[in-house]
Amino acid sequence: MRTALITGVTGQDGAYLAQLLLAEGYRVIGLMRRSASSDVVGERLRWLGVLDRVELVDANLIDLSSLIRVIEQHQPDEVYNLAAQSFVAASWQQPLLTGSVTGLGAANVLEAVRIVRPKARFYQASSSEMYGLIQAPVQDEHTPFYPRSPYAAAKLYAHWMTVNYRESFGLHASSGILFNHESPLRGIEFVTRKITDGVARIKLGLATELTLGNLDAKRDWGHARDYVRAMWRMLQQDEASDYVVATGRTTTIREFCRIAFECADLDWQRHVRTSASLVRPAEVDVLQGNADKARRVLGWVAETSLEQMAAEMVEADLARHRARARGLTQPAGLGPAYPAAGGPAQPPGAAPQQPAGLGLIQPAEA
Ligand code: NDP
Ligand code: GDP
Repeated sequence: MRTALITGVTGQDGAYLAQLLLAEGYRVIGLMRRSASSDVVGERLRWLGVLDRVELVDANLIDLSSLIRVIEQHQPDEVYNLAAQSFVAASWQQPLLTGSVTGLGAANVLEAVRIVRPKARFYQASSSEMYGLIQAPVQDEHTPFYPRSPYAAAKLYAHWMTVNYRESFGLHASSGILFNHESPLRGIEFVTRKITDGVARIKLGLATELTLGNLDAKRDWGHARDYVRAMWRMLQQDEASDYVVATGRTTTIREFCRIAFECADLDWQRHVRTSASLVRPAEVDVLQGNADKARRVLGWVAETSLEQMAAEMVEADLARHRARARGLTQPAGLGPAYPAAGGPAQPPGAAPQQPAGLGLIQPAEA
């Protein structure tokens, strides 16, 4: 049985990737940073019905010794480095923390792999944010980078370290330059999820307005469930490489609002307000990826349309708020999307697994 180590397993992609790897028959070790709220950080894994099947271990990306210990103990065949301070807006408030975790943290994981388990295959979660002030209308693996935030600068360092460890030490180290990908498990501070949560609250009479920043920005949005499949396929190749993963379609925030509000038969223009306080110090105006290489080499295509994804997210947020109103924490039975290799998914209507008031349904303003 192959063993995979996922850093950032409690995040959106970590949860979907754990689900995929379990379905593929892996033993999955999930790296989790210690927190006083450790009892609720597995919420996304629970949502997908896989929490009990992931072996959670304590470590932190900024503590190299903890990474070395985990890799020594579990001897993973594949290491997926998904952990990061991943929110661009927060990176202006905490630029040094972002550099430590998102940038140097990746170098720590690479070092731990190189020292302890150089045969392991390594995946780095690179980002389309690295293109920033875009140097070509459609971005691919050859497009020059121009980072526009402390987050993007940190990701760029991690990306080049991955390339350098591949070229200098022969590590099987691949970098996935993933364009934005969303899902019902997306953090609520990101714009798509903020919008679908807002739609649900307005639909259920819990709010009347939603305040956003720049509605003109354009993003190439895909579904996280599709994108983790590309990560896995990268590590199944004989040669490590870098790949753009994107849908090729770009959409404004304004248009996403229209699509999401329509899912609940609402007119977005009656509810969305804008505030200058939510406009960023520097903006990435437009991102649009060309994933031809991923299609050609990995046989990867995005399977979920933006409309399907928005509908799934709105439905999940409606279900969350309805469950909350009933005193439950989260609705059961929305996942998993992969056939489970061992344990059953949480059945529809299952009893709530934890007390109300915890977990992913807490609204937050970004
Ligand atoms: P999330 O923000 O949902 O998850 C980030 C994860 O990193 C969480 O599990 C978090 O743990 C963990 N983490 C943060 N700091 C540390 C630390 N010091 N030590 C150990 N773990 C830590 O991100 P996503 O799942 O959306 O994204 C996964 C990766 O892909 C990230 O690196 C992100 O930057 C990158 N990416 C994401 C894109 C997207 O559109 N989603 C696009 C391109 C790249 P905790 O639960 O404790 O906070
Ligand atoms: P990012 O591409 O990783 O920064 O993902 P986000 O979802 O955080 O932001 C996507 C785009 O939405 C950016 O151009 C933001 O400026 C824009 N945006 C507009 N209003 C908001 C908002 O209220 N919250 C967030 N997070 N982004 C917003």
